[in-house]
Amino acid sequence: MADCAFCMIVQRQLPAQIVYEDEQVLAFKDINPQTPVHVLVVPKQHYDHIGADVPEALLGHLFRVAARVAGEQGVAESGYRLITNCGEDGRQTVPHLHIHLLGGALLPISMGPAD
Ligand code: AMP
Ligand code: ZN
Repeated sequence: MADCAFCMIVQRQLPAQIVYEDEQVLAFKDINPQTPVHVLVVPKQHYDHIGADVPEALLGHLFRVAARVAGEQGVAESGYRLITNCGEDGRQTVPHLHIHLLGGALLPISMGPAD
């Protein structure tokens, strides 16, 4: 999709620190990491968010890849969090479906409303 930063990364039109790639999925380091390990796992095909008509098999694969990358990044045993933000209230800023892999630090408990 034109003007989509993550499509541009998939197409190597924007640089990224890629940590995993297969036919369907790309994983790369977040440009503004919130935790010591912060990787984004994205489908190569553009979907706006989790609410789009994403094939189930692809959704499953994205989570499998996220767990695999967690292992490769050394946080499988200490634990990690997978998040996908959707829309305005979810504070999604890049409208290309992505799973955040966050780890390497003890994460806050709260996932409730912002102050
Ligand atoms: P979200 O708010 O869930 O849409 O998250 C988007 C994430 O993408 C943020 O954590 C940004 O830091 C990250 N991001 C934006 N542009 C890039 C980029 N060019 N390369 C890597 N990460 C990016
Ligand atoms: Zn895209």
